[in-house]
Order: sequence, then structure tokens, then C-alpha cells
Amino acid sequence: MPDDVKSLTVGVPRETYPGERRVALIPAAVSALNKAKLNVVIETEAGVQAGFADADYAAAGGQVIASRGEVFATADVILQVRGAGANRLHARADFDLLRPGQLLIGLCDPFAEPVLMSELATRNVSSFALELLPRITRAQSMDVLSSQASLAGYKAVVLAASGLPRMFPMMMTAAGTIAAAKVFVIGAGVAGLQAIATARRMGAVVRATDVRSAAKENVLSLGARFIDMGVEDAPGVGGYAKGMDAGFYQRQQAALAPTIAESDVIITTAAVPGKKAPILISADAVRSMSPGSLVVDLAAEQGGNCELTKPGETVIENGVSVIGCVNLPSTVPYHASQMFSRNVTSFLLLLVQDGRLAINREDEIVQGTLVTAGGQVVHPKVRELLG
Ligand code: NAD
Repeated sequence: MPDDVKSLTVGVPRETYPGERRVALIPAAVSALNKAKLNVVIETEAGVQAGFADADYAAAGGQVIASRGEVFATADVILQVRGAGANRLHARADFDLLRPGQLLIGLCDPFAEPVLMSELATRNVSSFALELLPRITRAQSMDVLSSQASLAGYKAVVLAASGLPRMFPMMMTAAGTIAAAKVFVIGAGVAGLQAIATARRMGAVVRATDVRSAAKENVLSLGARFIDMGVEDAPGVGGYAKGMDAGFYQRQQAALAPTIAESDVIITTAAVPGKKAPILISADAVRSMSPGSLVVDLAAEQGGNCELTKPGETVIENGVSVIGCVNLPSTVPYHASQMFSRNVTSFLLLLVQDGRLAINREDEIVQGTLVTAGGQVVHPKVRELLG
């Protein structure tokens, strides 16, 4: 094919999930895709809330289109931050715009919404759910869960610092000595490690724990203390934790209670893929904290790590605020979009050769993320969920 021929068209509609401010592709990525012989069409104002103007997309070589319907009608591949199950309220409106043979790439929450995925299959739309990326070295540049989780970890600390009636750093002043805030991070994965690093940079004394003993080294390397819960190691597959029984979590609650009671800020990130988040902080444990303390629960969308958590709300119990965080990456939409865009571009380029789709179904990354293809739900776990 001659160099100037672009064949595949990539479409970026505006996100429609309530409160979602991110955009799947930023202008810098448009030029990268153009170089790979792909056209890019963008719905007008798709990037505005993230800080990217229509004019920036046009200047980068994209075509800005006023009608959402036309973006879907023109594109061969649709890129969304939240597609299908990850946009459960408005997904079906987009399904009516999708065409047979089209490809959808984005967060899709397929395990929570398998029926929506089967509707995509019925419409003969192929879909890749980015949250299913295998956590292998080759997929690191595509790993949207990691990029967005690290932003959530950062923002959780910023929220805590602005809500706490204390300072984070220790200060020795003529007006007396101010003790550093005590921050406890439960779950030292991607979000937790970023939270530890951010809280340390702000001068807090940081402690952290995890059920994967492998996380201990990471915690120590960031200058935090590791709290040993005295429970068995619980590593699962792919770097994740495995689900444990109720007795295990009760033992954990008891082991964590003393550290919880003396913390000013607790940031919880403990999650087990495909399962409800474990309750690690009981209502009684919240009541044991000093008034003015904070629990920032990053697992709120998976049910929460604190018994009192309500997603999207702040519950105040005995003067302690329990913040049920929802979609924190969207509160830093500029950098969240920049990172998502880099991830999704790397992923898309894996599927393209010489400006055309060339999907290798034997590739581990393709196999892990492909949910629908050829009019069928092809992902084994989603098939299982559909019975
Ligand atoms: P996650 O969001 O599923 O969980 C967050 C953390 O909570 C994990 O560290 C988990 O062990 C911990 N946790 C679960 N149950 C717990 C409990 N009951 N008590 C305390 N902690 C609990 O996981 P994540 O942050 O997305 O990733 C976890 C790990 O995966 C990373 O730390 C890393 O080692 C690995 N990873 C590898 C790659 C790669 O190689 N490409 C990319 C990203 C992450």
C-alpha cells in the first residue's frame, strides 16, 4: 500500500457515563495513529472536559464531527473509556449506532454485565475489554487498570490531606512541634503503592499491609512500614490476591484493629478480581478512630473495604469520615486521558498492520481481552456467566 493511503478509521465518541470526564484518545495520539495509516474521527467536544479542545484534535490531523451518529457510522473501530457494561446506563443507545462488523475497544466490565456483551455479539460487533488485559510484561504499555489505579492512589491522598484537620508533615516551629499524620494503606497493589509514595512525599508517617507477602518489599522500598497481619499468604494468579473465606477476613479485621485505631488516615484499595471487596474495617473499628480521622475507600465501587462505605458518598460516624470514592481517575481527567490514550493506542497498534486490522487470535493479549467476535461471545468466563 502506498504510504499516504489510510484505510482504517478510528472513532472517538464523547463519553456519556454520568460524571465521566476522560476521553479515550488525546490529540498527541491522533498523530501517532495517522503515522500508522489510520484515520481518526472525534465527536465534537469529546476532549473538552479533559482539557483537549476540538482545535487541538484538528491540528493533530483528526476530523472533528458534530454528530455522534456520524462518528459511529464513519468509524471501523470505536475507542471508548467506558463502553458496554462500563457505561451500563447508556450503552444501549450506543449499541443502536454500532454497525455489524465494527470493533469496540474500551473498559467494558464484561463480568458484571455479561448480557450487554451478548447483545454486542448479537449485533455482530467485536469487542475487546481492556480490564481483561493479562498482566504480562508485553502488555504493560496497554495496562489501563494500572495507569488509572495509580492516579486513584495519588488522588486519594490529596483528598485525605485536604479533608484532614491536621497537617501531613512533621514541623518544628516556634509555636511548637507538629506531629506527622499517620497514614495506613491497606492493599499495596498499584493504587496502594502510589498512595504510599504520595503520602510519604507529603511528609506523613506511612504504614501499609497486603495479603500478598510479595508486596512487603515494595512497601519497604517506598519508606513505609509493613504491618504483618499474621494471616496466611494469599497470592492469586496474575499478581492479584485470591479470594479467602469469611473466617480469614475476620482474623484480618482483628489483626488490623490496633493500627486502624491509631491512624489519622486510612486508604483502602484491597480488591479481588471478579469478587466483592473484602470488609476489612468494621463499623466498630471506625468508631475506635479519633474524631476528624478519615477512611478513603478506593474499593467503594466493588462494595468497599469498610463496613460503613457508601459508594459516591461520605458517611460520618463518630466524627470519622468514610469517603466512598467513585471514579477518582476522572477527577484528574487530563492526565488520566493522556495515560489511557497511550494505553489504548499501544493496544490498537497490536491489532493493526499497514493500516488494516490484522488480529492474531493466537496472541495471549488478544485471547485475554477479546469478548465478542464473529457474532459470538468468545470469552470463556463471560460465556460461563451467561450459562
Ligand atoms: P487489585 O486492584 O486487584 O488489588 C489491590 C491490592 O489489594 C492487591 O495488592 C491485593 O493483593 C490487595 N488485597 C486484596 N485482598 C486483600 C486483603 N484482604 N487484605 C489486604 N490486601 C488485599 O490489584 P492491582 O493493584 O491491580 O495489582 C496487584 C499486583 O499485580 C501489583 O502490585 C503487581 O504486582 C501486579 N501487576 C503486574 C503488572 C504486570 O506485570 N504487567 C501490572 C500491574 C500489576
